[in-house]
Amino acid sequence: MSNALYSLTPEHEMIRNTARDFAQKEIAPIAAEFDESGEFPYETVKKMGEMGLMGIEVPEEYGGAGMDTLSYVLALEEICKVDAAHGVIMSVNNSLYCYGILRFGAEEQKKKFLTPIASGKSIGAYSLTEPMSGSDAGAMRSQARRDGDDYILNGRKSWVTSAPVAGYIVVFMLTDPEKKHRGITAFIVEADRPGFTRGKKEPKLGIRASATSEILFEDYRLPAANRLGEEGDGFKIAMTVLDAGRIGIASQALGISEAAYEASIAYAQEREAFGQKIGQFQGIGFKIADMKTRIEASRLLVYNAAMAKERSKTTGERFTLEASMAKLFAAETSMFCAHAAVQIHGGMGYSKELPIERYFRDAKITEIYEGTSEIQRLVIARNELGLK
Ligand SMILES: Cc1cc2nc3c(=O)[nH]c(=O)nc-3n(C[C@H](O)[C@H](O)[C@H](O)COP(=O)(O)OP(=O)(O)OC[C@H]3O[C@@H](n4cnc5c(N)ncnc54)[C@H](O)[C@@H]3O)c2cc1C
Repeated sequence: MSNALYSLTPEHEMIRNTARDFAQKEIAPIAAEFDESGEFPYETVKKMGEMGLMGIEVPEEYGGAGMDTLSYVLALEEICKVDAAHGVIMSVNNSLYCYGILRFGAEEQKKKFLTPIASGKSIGAYSLTEPMSGSDAGAMRSQARRDGDDYILNGRKSWVTSAPVAGYIVVFMLTDPEKKHRGITAFIVEADRPGFTRGKKEPKLGIRASATSEILFEDYRLPAANRLGEEGDGFKIAMTVLDAGRIGIASQALGISEAAYEASIAYAQEREAFGQKIGQFQGIGFKIADMKTRIEASRLLVYNAAMAKERSKTTGERFTLEASMAKLFAAETSMFCAHAAVQIHGGMGYSKELPIERYFRDAKITEIYEGTSEIQRLVIARNELGLK
């Protein structure tokens, strides 16, 4: 499809083709098996690290690939088109972990905490949510107390993507509970220190090969040098990082939509009922038309958000609105497309023999994590109405 709103350079085409080839050759053959077992796909994730996919926008001096945001989005879309679980591992590593440290970290922190993660030697995670605080992040309870040159962390964080395998985690805790969200501080937690434990892995509906768990802190001592930003900056850091993360989840949703759509086209052209191809029935054709239109609208929003983030590297401007609109629309489109794809495939859409039911299970999470669709609407409305 031609377009005048974005243009891809040879470098963009190259990263997209590289990610597509890798996803089709290496991930496609194992995706169903890892979805079924819920095991973490160490081998393929390691290879993604070696290819530079785990730190696409991180400068080469810190172990990354030194590419732009559109490159990141294009690569992630291709990975998610084949397997959204590999996609979320890649997205959290790139945007929730690396972006935060790149944006808010001191030089020493970038050298020490970005290089192993961006190069794929270790895995990064991001931990804001707690059992009693999700959408309302300011309601968190975990606390960090200053003790000389250290902080002592205590608390329980939940739903941490990649926590069971992560070497480093950006964790948000209260340093001044009275101030609520203004009293939150960010820390770069090293998982090999005493006082840190990982809870049981969450059994999940979809993205089952990605590992998610609680993390627990019991008098976990961390040098003040591991604090990201200043005391009290945590909420601002968490929200800024989520802007970037939401572009990643929007790309994940776009990839799932495309996979569901392409499978539906092939099936509608092949499957026969009442003496004709099912694609010839208007009821099927209209579904295809709606899927295609919503996918292309999602693509424009996602690439637009990626370009806004890229511009922000020089202007410093926020891209909150672009990211929220892209995530909201792409997520709801992926649920729409996965739902339509199951229907178009009839009984086979419900069978584990095809990946369609996996797309359906995977699509749902894009409407929930990194801010539910309700929260995206809240962000967009507040922005448009000029509310705080
Ligand atoms: C698989 C998975 C992976 C995750 N990974 C991470 C991670 O790596 N790091 C991390 O920090 N968190 C992670 N999360 C947590 C995730 O971001 C939260 O689940 C999400 O933000 C929603 O929070 P909640 O589950 O507490 O729901 P709640 O906040 O309790 O919301 C429940 C319902 O109420 C609605 N609601 C809440 N407030 C409002 C409002 N003001 N207006 C309208 N409706 C509202 C919500 O939209 C939702 O429908 C993950 C979650 C899952 C399921």
